[in-house]
Amino acid sequence: MDYIIAHYQEIALKGKNRHIFVNRLLENIRYATEGLGIKHVIDKGGRIIIDLSSNVKENLLKERVSKVIGVANFSFGYKTSNNIDILKEAVLQYIKDRSFKSFRISTKRGYKEHPLTSMDIDRIVGAHIKGATGARVDLTHPELNVYIEILPREAFIYTERFPGQGGLPVGVSGKVLCLISGGIDSPVAAYRIMKRGCSVIFVHFHSYPYLSKTSQEKAGDIVEILNQYQQLSRLYHIPFGEIQNEIVLNTPSKYRVVLYRRMMIRIAEAIAKKEGAAALITGDSLGQVSSQTLENITTIENAASLPVLRPLIGMDKGEIIEQARNIGTYEISIIPDQDCCQLFIPKNPAVRTTVSEIERVEKTLDIPRLIRMGVEHGKMLTSPHEQSC
Ligand code: ATP
Ligand code: MG
Repeated sequence: MDYIIAHYQEIALKGKNRHIFVNRLLENIRYATEGLGIKHVIDKGGRIIIDLSSNVKENLLKERVSKVIGVANFSFGYKTSNNIDILKEAVLQYIKDRSFKSFRISTKRGYKEHPLTSMDIDRIVGAHIKGATGARVDLTHPELNVYIEILPREAFIYTERFPGQGGLPVGVSGKVLCLISGGIDSPVAAYRIMKRGCSVIFVHFHSYPYLSKTSQEKAGDIVEILNQYQQLSRLYHIPFGEIQNEIVLNTPSKYRVVLYRRMMIRIAEAIAKKEGAAALITGDSLGQVSSQTLENITTIENAASLPVLRPLIGMDKGEIIEQARNIGTYEISIIPDQDCCQLFIPKNPAVRTTVSEIERVEKTLDIPRLIRMGVEHGKMLTSPHEQSC
């Protein structure tokens, strides 16, 4: 095949800012497909045309383009003339070696000044194919669907559409920082906010050497997978065990969960500010565990000055798991590990805290020092986009 024809949906609605969205999508596609035999990636008449060289690595390319957020669907196809006589013959040549008993032609015009309507083209090309092959036209369940896209100086033809991720291109909505555990939820939260156009930096808290290194390894592997959906990921590993130790020594046990979370939020915010990230992202889903009651969410959020966004707040566990499977993080998330939040956790954590109650408890802690401890001992890793083939 000579070209990929890719479509976007939501960007088409962006009015005056449309070019910003489209340019970002073009750039993200160029980056994701680097080294795979691409000549040009351009926007033409509301679709993206990717010009392929002859030694293109089709499978790898398909895999990469399917992960670029903002692409709604895409196809491998050919270019021909938009002159109807040349076009109908080109379509016939394109499909003549396939065996099919029924077909349909689906024409779309990205160039409305073309002398023929989409339906005219469907009919003329359809009659030509029917005459030459004997196959019948079936508009509802055709064995072969031939798509034609009409542009000002050319037409593109293809027969198969692959689904993309949809959403807005990563980067158009700015930068956020996601608190990522090794669990199922936070990777899905990160993915969903990427789909709203955010580039995501990650922070993971671990209790090594109190607990094993597994959660760090899992977080690293998860970020590696999520990195396929954006250009470059940064992951901060923050040692949290000493901080937890101070909390345990100085506060009543029932508040530990909420106090851990408030410290995580504060340290995450310090990193977010350093990185120029405009919001914090968590994988909270309302009512799932004791830290996710409305009351505790309010108390935890109070420790932040940046907005805390929770893309999964209204999702069921089943829905989250299904999405985790689709994006490819589920298998890693279910590997048993020891999350730092499990360290020194009481049997009955407080499920309904208030801000004033927690602020009183926190008076026994040197919060600025604990924040510094986390930030200064943090380790930053980058996950460059995998370029090898
Ligand atoms: P997850 O599946 O993401 O671990 P969860 O259902 O286990 O979520 P919690 O453990 O209460 O819920 O965590 C709620 C959110 O707090 C997580 O989604 C994540 O954003 C953040 N979080 C929890 N543990 C960590 C950690 N060790 N490092 C970074 N963020 C964390
Ligand atoms: Mg968890």
